[in-house]
Amino acid sequence: MFIMDGRSSGTVVKEVVYWKGQAEAISSLAKALENHRVVFLDAPTGSGKSLINLSIAQWRGTGYITTPQTTLVNQYGRDVGPGGRFEGLGTAVMGRKNYPCPYALKLKEIDDLAPLPNSRLVKGINSRSPRIRELSLTAAMAPCTVDSPSFVGNLDVLLEAARGGRDDGNGFFTPDGKLKGRNGGGEEGTKVVPEMVKDCPFWNETTRTCPYYSARDRAMEDRVAVTTFHYFEYGIINGIKRSEEHAVAKDAYAMDGENGRPSFEWNPQPKGNTASRPGWKRRDVLIIDEAHNLPDFLVNFYTIQASSRWPRFDFPAFLEEVEKARDDNPDDVSNKTFEIFKEWFKGYYEQEEERLKSLENGLKVLENRIKMNAMIRTGSNDDVIPTVVVKDRTYGPDGSVDLELEPEYTRDALHEEIEKQKEFLYNLGFKKDTLESGVEWIYSPPSPGSLQQSLRDGNGNVGDGEQAVSWKPYEASPLLKGLWSMFPKVVFSSATFLDIPAFLERLGLDPGDAEAVRVDSTFPADSSPIRFPLNRHVNKRYLEPDGKEDLAVVVNEIERIASLPGHGDTKGVVHFPSYEWFRAVYRNISPELKERVIVHKSTTRNEVLEEFKASKEPKVLFAIKMEEGTDFRDDQARWQILVKTPYQDLGDEWVRLHREKMGRRWYEISALQQVIQASGRIMRNDRDWGDTYVLDMNAMKLIRMYEKECPRWFLKRLKL
Ligand code: SF4
Repeated sequence: MFIMDGRSSGTVVKEVVYWKGQAEAISSLAKALENHRVVFLDAPTGSGKSLINLSIAQWRGTGYITTPQTTLVNQYGRDVGPGGRFEGLGTAVMGRKNYPCPYALKLKEIDDLAPLPNSRLVKGINSRSPRIRELSLTAAMAPCTVDSPSFVGNLDVLLEAARGGRDDGNGFFTPDGKLKGRNGGGEEGTKVVPEMVKDCPFWNETTRTCPYYSARDRAMEDRVAVTTFHYFEYGIINGIKRSEEHAVAKDAYAMDGENGRPSFEWNPQPKGNTASRPGWKRRDVLIIDEAHNLPDFLVNFYTIQASSRWPRFDFPAFLEEVEKARDDNPDDVSNKTFEIFKEWFKGYYEQEEERLKSLENGLKVLENRIKMNAMIRTGSNDDVIPTVVVKDRTYGPDGSVDLELEPEYTRDALHEEIEKQKEFLYNLGFKKDTLESGVEWIYSPPSPGSLQQSLRDGNGNVGDGEQAVSWKPYEASPLLKGLWSMFPKVVFSSATFLDIPAFLERLGLDPGDAEAVRVDSTFPADSSPIRFPLNRHVNKRYLEPDGKEDLAVVVNEIERIASLPGHGDTKGVVHFPSYEWFRAVYRNISPELKERVIVHKSTTRNEVLEEFKASKEPKVLFAIKMEEGTDFRDDQARWQILVKTPYQDLGDEWVRLHREKMGRRWYEISALQQVIQASGRIMRNDRDWGDTYVLDMNAMKLIRMYEKECPRWFLKRLKL
């Protein structure tokens, strides 16, 4: 038994039973952190990494634990939450869309019984888009996120009234938004026209039950906070930076992870209270879990995109200019296209700043008009709703204005538009900051045909569907300097660190100040054999017309494995590297196997995954890019097939350039890392068991080439 001692306070945090390997790992990690700034915890699945990470953060005093894998934060949340295995060792917090908004849920209940007057929230909960409907009931689109009109008043009274209204089938709310008396008749009652939410009934001085704000505040106050990388970077890190930039008002800041805005602008608590919030602060240690892929993850995380969804931006004209620069400068595509992006972005950003000023001026004009109307109002003026026109511009070629719109706003609509514009500018601001960061940006063209799709139709409207052109940082390291310097100690943990020096170099960290602590697996290797049943190198040619026979061999092998004794009546997973591969195989499998197969689209991935895991039938999941970040424990899957070695796509300019500059080693190790990750999907604890089949001998070639880099627990599982 090992009793953990909070280092900073000297108090016992929690009594925890560690198994021997964990206790040794914690002790080695603690020692390594005394002498080095950066420490790697190289520990296999089932070694209890989460508890080791939580313990180390507690032992150092205070810490943040983050990860690129959102599902892992959910797991931490269950573990440290009430009744969890590690309750009391930390608090998990995620973006707002992960928390229900009780205010919105209550309004929906009322609106279902008796329609409420339109407001942003009511429009949202009745939207035709399922996604918007879903988000409207979460904290992501809650009334407190903008100073927009919504409802105030006693929701329970409204609900009771609405229930009464249902009895005789009469609605309770008149078209002008007034609540009628009980049973739809009689005197007008409480006025429920939309008003500003200033004090949410679920989060104020006396009631503090809002799930999102409760979680955020607990995470702020707890010694150890666990969160997604997105929340960590845009919420916590920006919160710390802003707090420090505004040292005088330091404690008045509390950042919201999803919107990344300082809470004093919008926090539903009374303003006087926000100063008592401690806000996010620097901590003693930063731990990044499942960090093996962090350099690539960060490249994608910081990728800059210009999108056809940007409002008032002439995307088709922009894209034409970018593509012309690409064609005119075949030897310098990335630099030339990025210069164009920077130029356009600068003008666009200025235009959008100007727009905010115009909207704010419009509001002043409107407020004056409303005051004047009130002074000269006669009975007949009561129904007139004052409006104001604010001109909009679309940023076009050479920075010129090529289109002017003149939307008309009421006061409420203008308030909402101003908030939206502030938020939009705030998010664009992140891009603005990175443009001058000294990063080498790599052009990533839109998908084929998108230029045509994004061109304007005959009415000047941009075609449906988002089109985007991207620039990826060659490496994210120039953008990370500020991050690493914020933490005295950094721990990276994962089961598959195959090349630590290259990993550190790519993140801009000093390999001389790092040490690795390795933990071996306690899983019996015979419970999870890895086999290579086909003696062939599976490649893209199999998808061509002349590769039909080779593809048939792959399909037959999948059929054979799926019907083996012990597999025919259990669940299995077939991993494909792309939808192209999935479609080619699916078209050719037998009707019997089709009966068992569950497929997913990119938009239904999570639902289908849960459906598969919950199924009691011997289903087979055809999974695209699930080699990591997904667990199939125990009977959730007893066998899996890796169809092809998951090399990165050489058609991607960033991948091609990396391979050219860093050599084959980077490219091959990255694929091997994915093979090792995939092999762990169905082996989640020491009593778990399952068979892994790799159909592509390229994986075996990589294992032989990089045997020294492979973890021992992985090599022991190979059946050659
Ligand atoms: S503070 Fe109120 S409105 Fe905002 S998310 Fe919480 S319950 Fe919803």
